[in-house]
Amino acid sequence: MKNYDVVIVGAGIIGLSIAWQLVRRSKLKIAVLEKGAGVGEGSTGASSAVCRCRYSLDELVYLARDGINAYRNWAAFTGLDEPRATFNNDGVLWMPGSDTQWAEAEHQRMQMLGIATEVLDDLDIKQRFPALNSCVLQPDFVTGEAHECQAGSKNFFETEGGYVDPVSAAQDLVEACRKNGVDIHFKTQVTRVEVNNIKLKSIKLNNSETLSMPLLVNAAGPWCKQLYQAAGLKLDWDLSPVRIQVLHRDRPQALQGHIPITVDMQGGIYFRTQNRGQQLLVGSVLEEDEREIVADPDNFRTETDQEFELLKFHALHHRLPQLPYRGTATGYCGLYTVNRADVHPIVGPTNITGFWVANGFSGHGFKLAPAIGSMLAQAITGDTLEFDTRVPMSFLGVDREPIKLESKSVLA
Ligand SMILES: Cc1cc2nc3c(=O)[nH]c(=O)nc-3n(C[C@H](O)[C@H](O)[C@H](O)COP(=O)(O)OP(=O)(O)OC[C@H]3O[C@@H](n4cnc5c(N)ncnc54)[C@H](O)[C@@H]3O)c2cc1C
Repeated sequence: MKNYDVVIVGAGIIGLSIAWQLVRRSKLKIAVLEKGAGVGEGSTGASSAVCRCRYSLDELVYLARDGINAYRNWAAFTGLDEPRATFNNDGVLWMPGSDTQWAEAEHQRMQMLGIATEVLDDLDIKQRFPALNSCVLQPDFVTGEAHECQAGSKNFFETEGGYVDPVSAAQDLVEACRKNGVDIHFKTQVTRVEVNNIKLKSIKLNNSETLSMPLLVNAAGPWCKQLYQAAGLKLDWDLSPVRIQVLHRDRPQALQGHIPITVDMQGGIYFRTQNRGQQLLVGSVLEEDEREIVADPDNFRTETDQEFELLKFHALHHRLPQLPYRGTATGYCGLYTVNRADVHPIVGPTNITGFWVANGFSGHGFKLAPAIGSMLAQAITGDTLEFDTRVPMSFLGVDREPIKLESKSVLA
């Protein structure tokens, strides 16, 4: 039987961030076990990987800020001379439409929290992002008819927001971890969890091997409940894999100038460019699009729905009026793991000694990952380092109360 100090189940962005944050401050013997053939087979591979700080709770703002700080300084954070991932600092523009008070209020709040933001009016938008229409009206989703656009918007811009290619970031963490002695095994599935007197004993793998360790971290993303069941762990939290749709459109020449990552709150969409600005990626920010629970995370419909395409492209055309109606459109689906109680994750020890969790990241997990790794690594080793967060793990602890929120969508 092989022994480790810490075993992490899942080589998504969360499991790898935990492993990296542990090994960069300790000599612990660490293994990461991943059932897939490589990184990115779970939520991480499908992620839009938008990195923005605006959340309704200050602690979340800090966690996002700390995670984004690691991505912005990726070579220094990972210790790699030539990491694959780069931070695309496109900025994140929030367009609240007819609510002209919101942007100023959020700007004031973010200033207090030390986040770089600006308020942009119609003229600013026209000068800086000429492809964007800053109309304050909501598109008509019932008839689909165009309206006469109305000026007067006040928008909120996060200057240091951006996105990262999620698979490149995960590959970088694999390289950094391996260089520092972490064992990372692909095609290796945890099939059983042995518990004795509510204490973790060992795990069994698909290759019949048995591993023993004092500490196991469940970072299995949408599969996390399978490990709870294997360990006989009952939690008060309901974490569900939920099908999430994302669309792609080629970006035509007609769309000139810089297009920031845009959160169109009235249109119910976010969009950003990718592939050096040549493509547009579009997703939803509506809670109603985060409700399709998937029974088996290994088997769900990965094609997008026609109805979803019609509504989201209608909203996109309103914001980008020069986007022709004709053009190549594709899409895919990935999985959020949604914590039904408050759409925020649970992190830390459970009532089985040695069985820890980092699960339920909804649409937040990519940006938060370096900070989540930091929380756990500080709790396990007691040591702090550069790039650490100061938000305590108890904020997301398994024994916390659900957080009270206005909305349970990805924008929470
Ligand atoms: C469409 C989409 C868009 C998103 N957009 C954003 C965004 O813009 N910004 C943002 O911050 N977040 C975003 N997210 C959320 C973010 O991507 C996730 O929260 C994050 O990737 C979760 O990472 P994870 O490591 O927990 O899970 P995963 O990436 O799913 O990793 C879990 C891994 O565990 C492995 N595994 C499971 N069970 C076992 C087992 N028994 N044994 C061994 N291995 C196992 C799986 O194969 C998987 O690779 C988005 C997610 C999706 C789906």
